[in-house]
Amino acid sequence: MRVLVTGGAGFLGSHLCDYLLKRDHEVVCMDNLITGNIDNISHLSGNERFSFIKHDVTEYIFLPGKLDAILHFASPASPVDYLELPIQTLKVGSLGTHKALGLAKEKGARLLLASTSEVYGDPEIHPQTEDYWGNVNPIGPRGVYDEAKRFAEAMTMAYHRYHGVETRIVRIFNTYGPRMRLNDGRVVPNFISQALSGKPITVYGDGTQTRSFCYCSDLVDGIYRLLTSEVDTPTNIGNPTEFSIMEFARKVIEITGSGSELIHEDLPVDDPKVRRPNIGKARELLGWEPKIELDEGLKKTLEYFRSRVS
Ligand code: UDP
Repeated sequence: MRVLVTGGAGFLGSHLCDYLLKRDHEVVCMDNLITGNIDNISHLSGNERFSFIKHDVTEYIFLPGKLDAILHFASPASPVDYLELPIQTLKVGSLGTHKALGLAKEKGARLLLASTSEVYGDPEIHPQTEDYWGNVNPIGPRGVYDEAKRFAEAMTMAYHRYHGVETRIVRIFNTYGPRMRLNDGRVVPNFISQALSGKPITVYGDGTQTRSFCYCSDLVDGIYRLLTSEVDTPTNIGNPTEFSIMEFARKVIEITGSGSELIHEDLPVDDPKVRRPNIGKARELLGWEPKIELDEGLKKTLEYFRSRVS
């Protein structure tokens, strides 16, 4: 396949580029480098099946040649990023998804949308199944991401139903691993860099809120299975093992052997209280489930962060 990865220089996008190239596909990576980083793909330069185009996907996408699939991963993805980039976040989820779908229609390509557990907002059912419609505050600071992704899902289904475009929607739960930005503000890079530099670990609120963390290689494997499946309705991909943020902070201290103390800071507005995917659908229809336990994934992530924290 010849595959376009939007947001291909980002954390997940770049792992997808690697995964596709290993499976002998041709990859066109597109990124405007707002939150992506060229270092994430620099090891691919010189690979004749790989090319990079610096482009903002909210602008018309012109791409000569055939195209079999589009993985639409362009978006700021951390709460801190979308607080700083609210308009870009809304634009890439809405206008960017429209442009990517237009290209898919033009080329007869299959499009996989990177959606998110944030479409469930601060969920009232637990764990979250795909048939839950969510509890989202449209005008809160997180609304720029949540609503953009909800719009993106609606737009994707409209192109599927009205234009017959082959589409896939993955709802991605918290994911971590090498190539996350040290300063992206999410809990994994924050806690690891704080632990490695001996700074206090900042637990927001009382730390009883929960998340479940999926290692990036598991996630990418699930996405590829979804892309190549016939499942055209939204599918959760994530790790169902749930931790409170307090437990997670202690785990990071244990694995790093850090002497950092835990401190509490204000909980961000609309921070979801619980989050855990029900992955029954992915298990049944994709034969997928995560393999990497948190300890193992954190150790791999730590190797990456160690060389970067001063
Ligand atoms: N969090 C925290 N300390 C930090 C960063 C995040 O306690 O330094 C909490 C945050 O309030 C949330 C959870 O960790 O409850 C996960 O936050 P993240 O930003 O990684 O992503 P989210 O799951 O909220 O989208």
